[in-house]
Amino acid sequence: MSAPLSTFGVEYRAGTLCMEGVSLAQIAAQFDTPVFVYSRAGISNAFSHLDQAVKAARGTRPYTICFAVKANSNLAVLNILAKLGAGFDIVSGGELARVLKAGGSASKVVFSGLGKTSAEMSFALKAGIKCFNIESEAELERLDQVAQQLGLRAPVSLRVNPNVDAKTHPYISTGLKNNKFGVAFDRARDVYRRAANMAGIQVAGVDCHIGSQLTDAAPLVEAMQKIVGLADDLARDGIQVHHICPGGGVGITYQDEEQIRLDAYAAALQSALGDRPVELLLEPGRAIVGNAGVLLTRVEYVKPGEAKSFLVVDAAMNDLIRPALYQAHHRITEVAEPAGNDRATYDVVGPVCESADVLGYSRELSAKQGDLLAVLSAGAYGFVMSSNYNTRPRSAEVMVDASTAKLVRARETIEELFAGEQAIDEA
Ligand SMILES: *Cc1c(COP(=O)(O)O)cnc(C)c1O
Repeated sequence: MSAPLSTFGVEYRAGTLCMEGVSLAQIAAQFDTPVFVYSRAGISNAFSHLDQAVKAARGTRPYTICFAVKANSNLAVLNILAKLGAGFDIVSGGELARVLKAGGSASKVVFSGLGKTSAEMSFALKAGIKCFNIESEAELERLDQVAQQLGLRAPVSLRVNPNVDAKTHPYISTGLKNNKFGVAFDRARDVYRRAANMAGIQVAGVDCHIGSQLTDAAPLVEAMQKIVGLADDLARDGIQVHHICPGGGVGITYQDEEQIRLDAYAAALQSALGDRPVELLLEPGRAIVGNAGVLLTRVEYVKPGEAKSFLVVDAAMNDLIRPALYQAHHRITEVAEPAGNDRATYDVVGPVCESADVLGYSRELSAKQGDLLAVLSAGAYGFVMSSNYNTRPRSAEVMVDASTAKLVRARETIEELFAGEQAIDEA
């Protein structure tokens, strides 16, 4: 038998793949394919598990879990998390607008990213966000100016680069010296001293983020120990930070990866913090939404080949780019449970004109034309990374809430795709 399906609430019932008892075949029939389907309970449970682990470790000491919006920024997802008390980690003015629209509180927003524009800084300052995570001295200088022009002081953390190897895929590893992210650890103390003397800046915290899809907590804890040490150095310099944040990066099970034990992870972070009078911030993205979503797709053609056979499906790299971009593995399973044992080996490919447009290599599947497949663990970095390449409208998004499926983003229409374009000559 194959491994259990890791996406929340997804299992076969009476021969049909369901999410929390709601038939995914029904959802495909109602909303068409390709379609992303998320589970409200999956999102809430993942958030609550982490929240409870941190609460148990922290006791009465303060903490905030800031969901990394870039992992899944649908308003319905943000609204669910806002109601659970989440803060948000954003990387653009657009994401701040989404958070506010979804009912999130600016006072729990931290603004990450290494290329913030003046307009984005100004928007976030006026909204009153909790903190800017600053990644360079040039960015710090600009924020100082923008804040002074507004007569405000910008709360700031430096995102420092602790030079810890996250041992994850190089494209999602961010904490090493040769990386574009963060302020070099050895420079940080000097930069903090400068920041502390800027009229438009208020030093608020220390931040890092070493990478994504980590399956071992050790590098996260090592990074935490380093930034706690930095906070102690700053205190000796007379700079007292209000919060310390080791970022996000907790991985999920796509295939058979071990998952970080959240209680042990939270306890290790707490033991690094001890009784220092600071707030703990976390910035998880994938761990909250990754296994709360699937991508449903239909087989357009079965294409036997000389060397291998293909299932040509109606979802493509423009819908889910992770396999093409990161060589990521997503489990793919039949929506109608195969009765016999007529599986064959296929590459599951999309219709986009790129050889990299593969959702899964060498999969044992039983499928014929018109059958539905579910690409699992697609709740994080799925729809948000989708594009209109090949003039393909982006998928619909649906949320399963208790026993009902609700549309949370309409499928794009072809007309919408070129609504802003025009010819320079008359047609
Ligand atoms: C992407 C990102 C996160 C979230 O990463 P996950 O691996 O999804 O938890 C957190 N913090 C920062 C600064 C990020 O860029």
